Amino acid sequence: MGGERRYWVNAPFDIPDLFDVEDFEDGAERRGLKRIDAELERAGFFIGETDWIYKTWDKEEAIEMANIAREIWSEWGDDQADTVSITAQPICPKCGELGRFSDEYCSACGTKLLPKTYLDIDTGELITIE
Ligand SMILES: [Zn+2]
Repeated sequence: MGGERRYWVNAPFDIPDLFDVEDFEDGAERRGLKRIDAELERAGFFIGETDWIYKTWDKEEAIEMANIAREIWSEWGDDQADTVSITAQPICPKCGELGRFSDEYCSACGTKLLPKTYLDIDTGELITIE
């Protein structure tokens, strides 16, 4: 703890388009994705609703984990590696309560939350999401 934002490193979880491909279930693609999943899990990611996720309060750690996820996915393809992203969870500037990504106001004290932001993996810059 101690950082001012909590970062979520998001890495793709499988590739939905492939599920339409015949014999995908037993094919080399399926095995390749399983290996990627195993590597992400070993690196410390857990499965969220739609992505592999790694949460941390440490910005440098978030960038390091994003680069690890990029490297793992680049074995498969750069398109997937490029979708790795880091988002900063909305947080209350007054009481420090963490909001959900859909929240605009603090559920504890009603203060407007700090905006959702992306952390640029290459520059370490925080970019506000409009
Ligand atoms: Zn608050």
